[in-house]
Amino acid sequence: MKILVVNCGSSSLKFQLIDSETEQVSASGICERIGLDGAVTYKANGEVYNEKIDLPNHGVAIQKVLSNLLDKKIGVLQSLDEINAVGHRLVHGGERFSSSVVITDEVIRQIEECNDLAPLHNPANLLGVHACQEAMPNTPNVAVFDTAFHQTMPKKAYLYGLPKEYYEKYGVRRYGFHGTSHSFVSDRLAELAGLDKSSARLIICHIGSGASITAVKGGKSIDTSMGMTPLEGLIMGTRSGDIDPAIIEYICAKEKISVEEFTSVLNKKSGVLGLSGISNDFRDLVDAVGQGNEDAKNALDAMVYRVIKYIGAYYVALGGVDAIALTAGGGENNAWLRENILNGLGALGIQIDPEANKTRGEEILLTTPESKIPVWVVPTNEELKIARETAALL
Ligand code: AMP
Repeated sequence: MKILVVNCGSSSLKFQLIDSETEQVSASGICERIGLDGAVTYKANGEVYNEKIDLPNHGVAIQKVLSNLLDKKIGVLQSLDEINAVGHRLVHGGERFSSSVVITDEVIRQIEECNDLAPLHNPANLLGVHACQEAMPNTPNVAVFDTAFHQTMPKKAYLYGLPKEYYEKYGVRRYGFHGTSHSFVSDRLAELAGLDKSSARLIICHIGSGASITAVKGGKSIDTSMGMTPLEGLIMGTRSGDIDPAIIEYICAKEKISVEEFTSVLNKKSGVLGLSGISNDFRDLVDAVGQGNEDAKNALDAMVYRVIKYIGAYYVALGGVDAIALTAGGGENNAWLRENILNGLGALGIQIDPEANKTRGEEILLTTPESKIPVWVVPTNEELKIARETAALL
């Protein structure tokens, strides 16, 4: 089956065309600055094409993607009928969705009910769904949720210590995110480490500009570091992760700003960017550390320390750990981060192999044979996971 995988943000639309049998990507790209001045990147047959073009809305963006796919020169399709299904990334499925679903009018209504929980993401994701439904009325659409994998968390892991009516009335609980990545990587980690998935105790560290850690037992998420929103947990590129909630009132009073303004600071100006004042990109910070910049060192140290703390907590929650994976931009590529994370895990008998840590972006065992727990780099592939889920459902 040919599956078009679509990941829509408020001003962008990323896509990949994936053959679900061979798992090969025949074309991919991104439409950016939708609603602004519009820019399209399209990759196929080993070539990259860039174009500046007006993209007033997501409908026009998807039309542009489809016309590129059909183009005589750069296209890879003869007819749109060759697209068997579209798999969409949906950020928040609340408690309603614990697995992927074929999209119907009723499903759209239920997704809209979750919009309050992810006001920036879900409406944007749905724009992509509507655009595809309009452009390809006879092609089925499937929703794959970031939250679904974590619906197996037990109550003790997902309840906040708040009056219970907030949970009952408003759905205030921990949901977790990056589920597509955690699920893909945990399956692959079990294979690589030669473990039986149905009993393996795994910790998956997704260290990208957004970052989260998940404890996986027997193929199921039992705890994860992100919460009701993707703001909780680790110190990320621009997000604060866990803070004392009393800071909100304190800073709002001191800086004379609203809760909305401070929430924007927590999401966009905090994390390693806020701590360093330099960059949200781990690479820039590692370079700055090399030049003796103390703020960059403090930012990365704090970020790494929190990763180590979560791994320690999940070690106990899982009753021991059989294997750990590092994934996403930082986990797959950043030797400094990997070295510092693994060196912080000495108490678990983990020993890094410095030679293995020189590699980038590939599946590799990062630890020595003597290490008590193997730590693997497992590149994530959320698009492939969405294509697999879509093909399986249809
Ligand atoms: P992601 O959100 O998964 O794209 O991850 C973004 C983070 O990965 C950024 O902070 C980058 O610094 C880091 N990253 C991506 N590629 C590399 C690389 N080749 N070397 C070091 N860090 C990288």
